[in-house]
Amino acid sequence: MNASSEVVVVGGGVVGAALTYYLAKSGARVTLMERDSPGAGVSGASFGYVNAAQKRPEHYHRLSRLGVEAYDALEKELGPDSGLGPRGGLLWPEPGSLGGQKMEALVEELRQWQYPFELLTPDEAAQVEPGIRVAGVDNSILYLPYERWVEGNLLAAALVSRARDYGAKVMVPCSALKILHHSGAVDGVSMSEGSLPADTVIVAAGTGSVGLLAPLGYHLPLERVVGVLGITSPLPCLLRGVAYPGAYHVRPTHEGRIVIGAQEVDRLADEHTDVSTPPSWAGRLLQMAQLDMPGLEGLRLEEVWLGVRPMPADRLPIIGRVPGIEGVYVAVMHSGITLASIVGQALSTEVITGERAAFLEPYRPDRAFPAKTKT
Ligand SMILES: Cc1cc2nc3c(=O)[nH]c(=O)nc-3n(C[C@H](O)[C@H](O)[C@H](O)COP(=O)(O)OP(=O)(O)OC[C@H]3O[C@@H](n4cnc5c(N)ncnc54)[C@H](O)[C@@H]3O)c2cc1C
Repeated sequence: MNASSEVVVVGGGVVGAALTYYLAKSGARVTLMERDSPGAGVSGASFGYVNAAQKRPEHYHRLSRLGVEAYDALEKELGPDSGLGPRGGLLWPEPGSLGGQKMEALVEELRQWQYPFELLTPDEAAQVEPGIRVAGVDNSILYLPYERWVEGNLLAAALVSRARDYGAKVMVPCSALKILHHSGAVDGVSMSEGSLPADTVIVAAGTGSVGLLAPLGYHLPLERVVGVLGITSPLPCLLRGVAYPGAYHVRPTHEGRIVIGAQEVDRLADEHTDVSTPPSWAGRLLQMAQLDMPGLEGLRLEEVWLGVRPMPADRLPIIGRVPGIEGVYVAVMHSGITLASIVGQALSTEVITGERAAFLEPYRPDRAFPAKTKT
């Protein structure tokens, strides 16, 4: 890429916002196109746990770990508006022998991989999080000192705002309609009114990436996986970090609300479920969390968020040059919150200098994907 090259990033979720930020910071001429507002996609409806402990296989755990670590520097760069919460996550097993076995296996693996953790008793865990009372668990509460939460909409907005300071152009709201190319190389992006010339286009449009890449002959193997979260009204300081017992997960917001998610509740919704007022089945989220957090008793959910995860067919990120057309890149992943900063840094370096980070090699778009998605 030379100094006059124009880069367009499509999508202002955490992934596209991070790419725009690191490109602009490195001096690239970059324009972000976002059809709604930064963080308005799934990034703003995410649980937002920046985590690595439960990521498999090992190379993905290691990438996620780089993702967790990358937020230390980014937090200093973005300052108090970054949306990042304090460090420290607690994990404990689901009741029953299977939960215990899973936890033992996890602890053994983390030891082998030298991932920082401590094992706590319930009393020790209550010192970390006074609002939590874990029952029926001995000393197998995992404390993860570097894992943390972030509010995706705030992070995306902060990244876009700093990217602007570094000279990025931001087109919001602006829908990219088509990636334009000529003689096998990209030459722009069309919008409802006209087109924007580009030497490089990075598609970071979450679930919207499929439709932008298909006309180029690249079938992005993406599944749409619905997730719901229940949100309480603001409470006086009930929780600082993330708590992730097997059956559900909770974290606070900067306003003191509690965000609760659970896989069993995700299955009760689809993309068309109306969550404008909290459906009665969402009350199950509060029931689960109340068992370990007495301070939630008597509360009701104030809001329910519904998001559609951009889930690659093999569950691993898809990052890098799209085969076929020169100058087109893609960055789509689940766990985009965990990975936004490290992927933003590594892919922006690749686009500018051609230098490929070894840790991104397992995630290239031209790898073989399973014919059927895993369930
Ligand atoms: C319930 C739930 C819990 C989750 N928990 C976690 C977690 O704990 N940790 C974690 O790391 N991840 C988690 N995720 C996943 C994470 O939220 C996503 O991986 C991440 O937000 C993806 O970011 P993105 O920028 O790729 O996508 P998005 O946030 O969807 O951003 C894509 C953007 O592109 C824009 N766009 C689309 N098409 C176009 C177009 N044609 N032109 C212009 N703009 C366009 C959209 O408006 C959108 O703003 C969770 C997701 C859900 C739903």
